Amino acid sequence: MFDKILIANRGEIALRVIRACREMGVASVAIHSTADEDAMHVRMADESVCIGPAPSSASYLSMPAIISACEITGAQAIHPGYGFLSENAGFVQMLEDHGITFIGPRAEHIRIMGDKITAKDTMKALGVPCVPGSEGGVDDVDDARKVAAEIGYPVIIKATAGGGGRGMKVAQDEKGLEVAFRTARAEAKAAFGNPDVYIEKYLQKPRHIEIQVFGDGKGRAVHLGERDCSLQRRHQKVLEEAPGPVITDEQRARIGQVCADAVAKIGYAGAGTIEFLFEDGEFYFIEMNTRLQVEHPVTEAIFGVDLVRQQILVAAGEEMEFQQDELSIRGHAIEVRINAEKVPGFSPCPGRISQYHAPGGLGIRMDSALYDGYSIPPYYDSLIGKLIVHGRDRREALARLDRALGELIVDGIDTTVPLFSDLLQEPDIQSGNYSIHWLERWLDRKYG
Ligand code: ADP
Repeated sequence: MFDKILIANRGEIALRVIRACREMGVASVAIHSTADEDAMHVRMADESVCIGPAPSSASYLSMPAIISACEITGAQAIHPGYGFLSENAGFVQMLEDHGITFIGPRAEHIRIMGDKITAKDTMKALGVPCVPGSEGGVDDVDDARKVAAEIGYPVIIKATAGGGGRGMKVAQDEKGLEVAFRTARAEAKAAFGNPDVYIEKYLQKPRHIEIQVFGDGKGRAVHLGERDCSLQRRHQKVLEEAPGPVITDEQRARIGQVCADAVAKIGYAGAGTIEFLFEDGEFYFIEMNTRLQVEHPVTEAIFGVDLVRQQILVAAGEEMEFQQDELSIRGHAIEVRINAEKVPGFSPCPGRISQYHAPGGLGIRMDSALYDGYSIPPYYDSLIGKLIVHGRDRREALARLDRALGELIVDGIDTTVPLFSDLLQEPDIQSGNYSIHWLERWLDRKYG
């Protein structure tokens, strides 16, 4: 086992990893920018190193600075969290050259899944069902028209380098195709430096269902069921739950096995998520994330496992602590993402927290780096906390979420907490009857 791990991240996820380290008897090193001197992850880690100024390009994304921090502190491994360098194959390669272990999959697997066209081709070949669409990329409007006519409108044009919901445009009919195609390419070029796009059938009312997989890097892999992340705004997840309200045990077992087999076959190491759209009983692969997800705690709750601990074990060359037949689901879990944003515009609201009180009691987990008097810097993601509830069934989880939201106090800034209290009153949320378009339509109706 490692003696010391450096966490190349900040906020709640850095705390999450520090907590796993502490339980495993491994020392932790926090890195931080000058804007994060007072951040909770810095206070909680065993050691900390300032690696640069506020902008993440000069700190949390600075590979040489992070590697130097490892060398100065003698950290043997890096946990990347999510975002930042977590899916950067070049970084993984660089760590390898410096003899530092990356807690995550091999560079090769990050590279394959980071290019969505290659990812889709690879998954198809491994027997994973995909959304109908173009064979590979589409370079010009005429080709785009041909492909769209074949698969039928509406279609969605997506960046092969895409992420975070950017570089995606829907064309309802042939009239709208050219504009959608050109805008998607321009957006992809601006956001990712790569204009390549591909085309998929645009599904009308799918749910977003993702399968958690875990591989030992030596050809053994398991699945830990699904998460339903259909409640989205601008293709970004807002609330996640596990198990999915409409997925049957048979569907879970079938798609779970397909996913576990696929990652076992490529010798995948660590945690991964295979994302699908689910419509009329069918799963359609959209992408694979080769990291720990923001929403991993709902899976941890219902399976009673610590996924970060497993990541660290596998990275250290040890065995993961479960077999497929030891993994069973207990109850229901829901996570809400609490952002420093003002509803309904969702504009970021950084600032000073005058008072913070986390909810508690049975079945509550609050993952947050907030504290009384903390000033949220304006430079980073607006996620400031994740409230995760676990109950014997979905009804109990919903009631518990309502109760916990009532206890939570985050004063001094605007947050998305009121949004969730409102959502819980909705019959469709209570019954689990929602697709990926439900939330935006509801927001339109409510706020116009
Ligand atoms: P990103 O990597 O940017 O998050 P994804 O491919 O994961 O992009 O898609 C994000 C979201 O966009 C999905 O959860 C879904 O809401 C929507 N989406 C993507 N592809 C399709 C499609 N073919 N039909 C309908 N919606 C889609």
